[in-house]
Amino acid sequence: MTIETDNAKEEVKEIVEKCIKCGLCKSKDAIFKVMREEQFSPRGKAILLNNGVYEKIVFDDTLSKQCEINCPLKIKMHEVIIKARKVLVEEKKDPVENRKMIKNLENTGNVFGIKEEQKMNK
Ligand code: SF4
Repeated sequence: MTIETDNAKEEVKEIVEKCIKCGLCKSKDAIFKVMREEQFSPRGKAILLNNGVYEKIVFDDTLSKQCEINCPLKIKMHEVIIKARKVLVEEKKDPVENRKMIKNLENTGNVFGIKEEQKMNK
């Protein structure tokens, strides 16, 4: 673990511990509307992240900011999720699909891993 990941975790906690668990964010959240499980709601994510649980929840988010519209405390969950994703990437605990996407970006400049010469042949 690096100082950066420690700091990022502290920043995440500082934001999510302000959540008053009112649940007003849930009606606007696209992922919760589909999954219908508390762990996928912004409130559920805030509770889990406040307890140090990152895996399996932070990559299930569209970063749409819709959940922030109703939040009485204006908690910026999209910023929290981005910070939490960075922590998982640093700790190499991000999903395989994310690692593959990063490798594709490094190797080809796009998330699909399509090289320039392959694009020309299409
Ligand atoms: S609306 Fe804001 S304060 Fe209320 S549960 Fe959602 S994130 Fe927490």
